[in-house]
Amino acid sequence: MKVTEYDISHPYQATVERNERITPEDAAEVRHLVLSIPDATFTYMEGQSIGVLAPPPPDFGNPHHLRLYSIANSRQGEQGDLSEISICVRRCFYIDEVSGERHPGVASNYLCDRQPGDAVEITGPYGRQFMAPKDPTCNILMIGVGTGIAPFRAFLKHIYEERKEWKGKVRLFYGAKTGVELLYMNDQKDDLSLYYDEETFKAFQALSKRPAFDEPPAMEQTLKDNAHEVWGLIQDPKTHVYVAGLSSLEATLDRLLAFMVGTPEAWQAKKQELIAQRRWATLFYD
Ligand SMILES: Cc1cc2nc3c(=O)[nH]c(=O)nc-3n(C[C@H](O)[C@H](O)[C@H](O)COP(=O)(O)OP(=O)(O)OC[C@H]3O[C@@H](n4cnc5c(N)ncnc54)[C@H](O)[C@@H]3O)c2cc1C
Repeated sequence: MKVTEYDISHPYQATVERNERITPEDAAEVRHLVLSIPDATFTYMEGQSIGVLAPPPPDFGNPHHLRLYSIANSRQGEQGDLSEISICVRRCFYIDEVSGERHPGVASNYLCDRQPGDAVEITGPYGRQFMAPKDPTCNILMIGVGTGIAPFRAFLKHIYEERKEWKGKVRLFYGAKTGVELLYMNDQKDDLSLYYDEETFKAFQALSKRPAFDEPPAMEQTLKDNAHEVWGLIQDPKTHVYVAGLSSLEATLDRLLAFMVGTPEAWQAKKQELIAQRRWATLFYD
């Protein structure tokens, strides 16, 4: 769906409560923002996103610059406060291919620069296709890179802090360039470590072998190393698969799963079956 197709006719006024950097100074900048939304009609489920209406650059033509950000907390609000939500934003820059100049991404820089007390206009929530199963005997296989961890933080909070009785296997494959860029799992902020003792939960980290180069994290190898577990889960009709983060992850997964099944055609057929059964959900962005 194109960003211009999202309904922005009912915006909400939010206020920045906290804005904290969750990666060290020498890593790519990612910030955890907590927004308060006093309007109680703003409700959402784990896996949904909000729209942020950032002021557009001059001469842009549009009244707003809309970009989407995954809600990083459960439906009970950030830290159990129903009026607060959190998002996790990577500060983006783009290189102009002709001039070689580096330009800041509009919405991500706007958000990263907001101070506590600043107002932010938001819309949504959007995306009802990326929701955790209700049945606690279901298995959940989560595969994500970078800020794609945000909806999984929400899933885990809901499953282990609110549902409490989860029986199915919960597996998280999470990739980043370096250990310090493993969001919510590094020294800066490590709330996901709360779940390491849960019997049903296992996390697998995929770190790039060559972090100095701008190549995707070693997700393919980590999934290959655990192919037995991954493929066993995908074949189990009680498993729901969720994939989130940069769109380049899709090709990596297609390649790997085609290898596991035998041919690209066999994997595409299996994927269509999973989609039809609502057991395969993706949330990709560039
Ligand atoms: C469902 C969904 C959930 C998402 N969740 C998250 C999340 O949780 N966290 C997160 O950080 N992001 C998330 N994103 C991505 C986010 O929506 C934005 O796309 C991202 O922050 C970049 O937006 P921006 O306004 O900063 O960049 P923009 O200014 O919109 O730039 C985006 C594009 O415009 C081009 N461009 C921009 N400026 C220039 C320039 N000056 N010269 C040449 N080209 C240029 C580039 O090609 C670039 O790809 C999500 C996206 C989707 C669709």
